[in-house]
Amino acid sequence: MTDLTRHSAKALHASLHAGEVSAVEVTEAHLDRIAATDDQVGAWLAMMGDAALAHAKDVDSRRAAGQPVGALGGVPVGIKDLMCTKGVPTTAGSRMLEHYRPPFDATVVENLRHADAIALGKLNMDEFAMGSSTETSAFGLTHNPWDLDRIPGGSSGGSSAAVAAFQVPLATGTDTGGSIRQPASVCGIVGIKPTYGRASRYGLVAFASSLDQAGMFARTVEDVAWSLEVMCSHDKKDSTSLPDAAGDFTTGLHEGVKGLKVGYVPAHLGEGCDASVAEATRNALKHLEALGAEVVEIDLPFAQYGLAAYYIIAPAEASSNLARHDGVRWGSRVAGATTAEMMANTRSANFGPEVQRRIMIGTHVLSAGSYDEYFGRAQRTRTLIINDFAKAFESVDVIATPTAPSPAFKLNDSSLSPLAMYLSDIYSVPASLAGLPGLSVPVGFADGDAFSTTQGLPIGLQLVGKPMAEATILRTAAALEADLALDLAPRGANALEV
Ligand code: GLN
Repeated sequence: MTDLTRHSAKALHASLHAGEVSAVEVTEAHLDRIAATDDQVGAWLAMMGDAALAHAKDVDSRRAAGQPVGALGGVPVGIKDLMCTKGVPTTAGSRMLEHYRPPFDATVVENLRHADAIALGKLNMDEFAMGSSTETSAFGLTHNPWDLDRIPGGSSGGSSAAVAAFQVPLATGTDTGGSIRQPASVCGIVGIKPTYGRASRYGLVAFASSLDQAGMFARTVEDVAWSLEVMCSHDKKDSTSLPDAAGDFTTGLHEGVKGLKVGYVPAHLGEGCDASVAEATRNALKHLEALGAEVVEIDLPFAQYGLAAYYIIAPAEASSNLARHDGVRWGSRVAGATTAEMMANTRSANFGPEVQRRIMIGTHVLSAGSYDEYFGRAQRTRTLIINDFAKAFESVDVIATPTAPSPAFKLNDSSLSPLAMYLSDIYSVPASLAGLPGLSVPVGFADGDAFSTTQGLPIGLQLVGKPMAEATILRTAAALEADLALDLAPRGANALEV
C-alpha cells in the first residue's frame, strides 16, 4: 500500500488481515501524519502514542501467532474527549475537567478496544458538547481542513477535522442535537448517530441524557456502518440501553434503493436554507430517484418547533447534569471562604460563557414559576414531533433533509449571535428529540459562484430512519455515495495540504 493514511478503515483492515502491512506501521503512519499536520488542524487534545504502539504490537504478534484478533484488528481510531479513557485525560473541552483522568473506559471505548481498534488519542470538542463550531472548547480552536479559517462543525469538531484531514480513518463522536451530523456535513465526511439506546452512554460525560447518543465518523459509508456495529451493544450499566442494541449494519449495505420511499419536506429547501445547500439536496434527491427510489413530499408540521423545544429541554437536562461539577464531587476546585463561595468560584472560573448560559436557561425553565410554561410545553412539543415522524414513517422508509442550513462558516465570526449558532441545528434536532437514527453523507459542494466565499466547501445530506432502521439509511447513503462518486480530499486556496 502506498500512503497508509489515504485508505479507508476497511481497505486498511484487508491489508492488515492479509499480512501486507503491520498494525505498527499503520499506527506509525497515522501518528506521523498527526505530528505533521496538527499544528494547522488542532484536532487533538491528548495523544496516546505509546499505548497505541503497544496495542498495535500486540495485535501484530497475535495475528502472526494465529491467535484471535478483534474485528477492527489494528485500524486506528480517534476518541472524542468526553468519552472516558482509563488513565488518559478526559476533559469534555472544559477547564472543569482539565485534570480528570478516569479510572475506567466508557463502554463504547471498551467495545472498540476489544475489537482491537487502536486508540490514537483524544479529540477536541465544544465545552461539554455545547456548540456547533468547537469554538467553545477551553483548549483552542480546531480548523476545517477544507478552509483553515473555517469551523470544523461541532460539537465533535476535532473528530470530523481529524478524519477529513486523513489523520485517522475512524473517530467517535456524540450527538445530542446534531453534533455528529453537522460536523460531518461541513467537513465532507460521513457521520452517523444511531437510534437512542443503541450505543451505551456509560462513561460519557453527560450533556442532556435523554438526547445524548454516541456514533461514528469515517470517510466512507461502509466504514461508519462497520465500526458502528462494533460500538453498539446492550449495556446494563446504562439504564436506557436497549435490549437489542447490537445490530447488523453491513449486510445488504450495497443492495441499492430500488423501491425505497424517500420523503422530503419542501419547506426545508426554502427560507433559511443556503441556495447551494438546497441545490445539492435537490440534486441528491434526483439521483435517488434515478437509482429507483420513489421520492415523495411529506409534511412534518411540528418539526419547525424542534429547535425551540430542544433549546429548553437540552439546557434543562444540562443544568441538572452539570450540578455535580461543584469542586467537591467533580471539578477543579477554586478556593473560597465558605463552601458555597468555593462552589461559586469553582463554577464561575471553570465553566465557559456558553455553558454558563445554558445552565442559566436550564435552571430558569425548570424553576417553579416557569416549569409548565417552558419545560412542560417543550416536552409536549417533543411528543408532537415524535408523533409527526411516526406518521410520516407510515408512508416512507427514509426522510431526507439538508444536514445543516449552510456550509462551514468562518471561525471567530463575531457577528454570529448565540441564537444564529443555534440555528445551525435546525434540521438535526427533530430526529434527536424523537430518538431516531440519523446520518450525514456528502452530496456536493457549494457552487462555483466566484463571489461566494463558501465556494467549493462540502455539503451533506441528512437521512433519518425509523427506530432501529440504521441499515436502511446506511444503504441509502451507500447508494448515493457510489452514484455521486465525489472526490472528498480537501482542496481549495486555503485548504490543508493533503
Ligand atoms: N449544537 C447543538 C448544541 O449546541 C448540538 C450539540 C450536540 O449535539 N452535542 O446543543
